[in-house]
Amino acid sequence: MRARLSPSFRRGLAVDLGTANTRVYVQGHGIVLDEPSVVAIDLRDGKPVAVGSDAKAMIGRTPAHVQAVRPLRDGVIADFEICEMMLAYFVRRARPGRLSKPDMVICVPSGVTGVEKRAVMDLAEAAGARQAWVVEEPMAAAIGAGLPVHEPTGNMVVDIGGGTTEVAVISMGGIVTSQSVQTAGDELDEAIIQFIKKEYSLALGERTAEEVKIALGSACPLQDEVRAEIRGRDLTTGLPKTIVTTTEEIREAIEQPVAAAVDAVKVTLDRAPPELAADIIERGIVLTGGGALLHGLDARLAAETGMPIVTADNPLQCVAFGAGQCLEHLGALSDVLMTRSR
Ligand code: ADP
Ligand code: MG
Repeated sequence: MRARLSPSFRRGLAVDLGTANTRVYVQGHGIVLDEPSVVAIDLRDGKPVAVGSDAKAMIGRTPAHVQAVRPLRDGVIADFEICEMMLAYFVRRARPGRLSKPDMVICVPSGVTGVEKRAVMDLAEAAGARQAWVVEEPMAAAIGAGLPVHEPTGNMVVDIGGGTTEVAVISMGGIVTSQSVQTAGDELDEAIIQFIKKEYSLALGERTAEEVKIALGSACPLQDEVRAEIRGRDLTTGLPKTIVTTTEEIREAIEQPVAAAVDAVKVTLDRAPPELAADIIERGIVLTGGGALLHGLDARLAAETGMPIVTADNPLQCVAFGAGQCLEHLGALSDVLMTRSR
């Protein structure tokens, strides 16, 4: 398992199989596919009717015989079969017309067990990989954000996705300390659903809650607090209803999970060896993942940790891009990859 064979990829693929989104990087081309990790299944025959964006648009809108499934939850594979179906579909779409099996680099959350890493490699091979290699997500995120991961200096990344927030301190090509908590985008959506239900007796779907979070969510007071309309279903009458909420209210609604993510950052910072902590004060903490785009999260983290905070360019694609860099620069980066010993 710990084997670090020296790989030689030809037209390899790097896959960021995220709880919310999957991205595929093709060696020599870059990221060619970026789609929600959702499959719509026809329950009558178990066959997929849609995958990716088309399937996500169906969440909460399907007839009884169709179910929109997210096969990953909290950062790990919740439904192996559907996950395999989804990955195989994305791999085919990323390299149309090619029959040979690609080598595949696939990302795993930090701190997963050997068994879980093997499950992800099994999945990649079942979905069409010739050989699968894993890279830990925070490492891929740091490489994707352009951090000098091999230097003897402290690099800190915080990757906030749909299911997990991963916080890691990296130096000399290895993760020195890390934490993965199951508080991320999905929990913010759920907190909004609960809040709107309690305050307004209004039922919101998962997708509307996510839209509300993206439009109105924040982690600290905004210069211009705004009001906005939200539509849902009245829980007492069962009829469609529109309510007016504010950015202050939505901030309050998501405060608990936001504070939990902030705490994970503080705890990891506390655990960093002093020399590396000193480097981080100088270089700052880099934010990646979709959650990095929450309004005011950077300011909130800066206030609570006293560290400079930098949001990576294109935070949603950092992990996939970093995993892709492992394919492109094998000489320099192969040491962060792991595969089965053969
Ligand atoms: P994963 O790696 O788990 O698939 P991503 O890094 O793709 O996750 O991020 C997806 C998460 O980021 C979702 O929960 C999504 O709602 C959230 N997100 C995307 N854009 C924003 C935004 N502008 N503000 C707040 N959250 C966002
Ligand atoms: Mg991710």
